[in-house]
Amino acid sequence: MQFAQIPGLQETKENLIHAVKSNHLAHALLFHGPEGSANLTLALALASYLYCEAKTEIDSCGICSSCQRVQKLILPDLNFTFPVVASSKEEEPGAEEEKEEKVDLLGNWRKFVLTQPYGNVQDFIYFNGFEKKQLNISKAAARKMIQTLSLMSFEGGYKIMLIWCPEYLHPSAANALLKILEEPPAKTLFFLVTTQADQLLTTILSRTQKILVRAFSDQEIQSHLVGSGACETALAAQVAMLSDGNLRSAYRLIHQMEDQTVRQLRDWFRLCATKNLKDIFALSEEFHKMDKEAQKSLMLAGLHVTREILLKNLDVDQLLRTTDEDRAFIQNISKRVLTLDHVQPLYTAFNQAHYHLERNGNAKMIFTDLSMEILLMMSKN
Ligand SMILES: [Zn+2]
Repeated sequence: MQFAQIPGLQETKENLIHAVKSNHLAHALLFHGPEGSANLTLALALASYLYCEAKTEIDSCGICSSCQRVQKLILPDLNFTFPVVASSKEEEPGAEEEKEEKVDLLGNWRKFVLTQPYGNVQDFIYFNGFEKKQLNISKAAARKMIQTLSLMSFEGGYKIMLIWCPEYLHPSAANALLKILEEPPAKTLFFLVTTQADQLLTTILSRTQKILVRAFSDQEIQSHLVGSGACETALAAQVAMLSDGNLRSAYRLIHQMEDQTVRQLRDWFRLCATKNLKDIFALSEEFHKMDKEAQKSLMLAGLHVTREILLKNLDVDQLLRTTDEDRAFIQNISKRVLTLDHVQPLYTAFNQAHYHLERNGNAKMIFTDLSMEILLMMSKN
């Protein structure tokens, strides 16, 4: 990861580079930004910059051996700790290590970060099949970090410990780390990457220097999407506006919008409002044939529209993150058929449908049931 690969945030990048050049980099940095921000990618870009053998005034070179190994997350002095499924034998020394040997967790984490650098913990859980399991960073993991950092660096330079989602640190693990966070061995850096700094123990917080990573601007998201070839300009503009500075949402929206999901939703709502059962059943057949991600996208679009209905009903129009065409649709339904009273039940219904789809429920039944619920809500006006 190079700084150039991250859209915008010029001031944050410059501050980090300046800290490196002037030898003022704190030994424990907390990259704190909202979901879909560059908190992880900035930490990785800084690691690249520190290890690069031919860095420039503004970035790592991207081609030297160190850059290439950071890019693949395989540089031996760059270590990663992240939440994993909690062991039932939390405090038994060694139990965790044994268990971790069985699955290549680090390999999975690398694959996850390389494919979804703006993903969140839920995406990571889904990626690993960790659903419905308790995650944490255990005391055993903290011991492992301390042990790793006590060894000589492989290449004589910095040793970095990047902790992704430190809010998952078990209190015993957090306490075990306090001393090393306060006084790490020479040339040792901690990069803590979080979206929820308020959930960290104050003892951890007070030992780190905060790097506040703001959400991206619409313009930054738009040029990033176009520049990386993710989509063309018109779609990028729409996605940027809808994603609220969140690059994770932006990537998810691209698929959704290319699938014409909002249009589908609009047609579907129309059928429910006119109680057109025949066409609803036909649509449920169509829905059944769509792939799982597209089905889930439709539910997410439903949640998005529900949020907009809420805002519309509260007259908070300036918060609406919707295109003109969709705005007319929302204005229409929130005036005529779906009011404030429907927001909570709609939200629950879409959420449940999404959940059941994820658990491999029968898509046709889920869609039909949900249609009936919406139809009933609409006819209660
Ligand atoms: Zn380089």
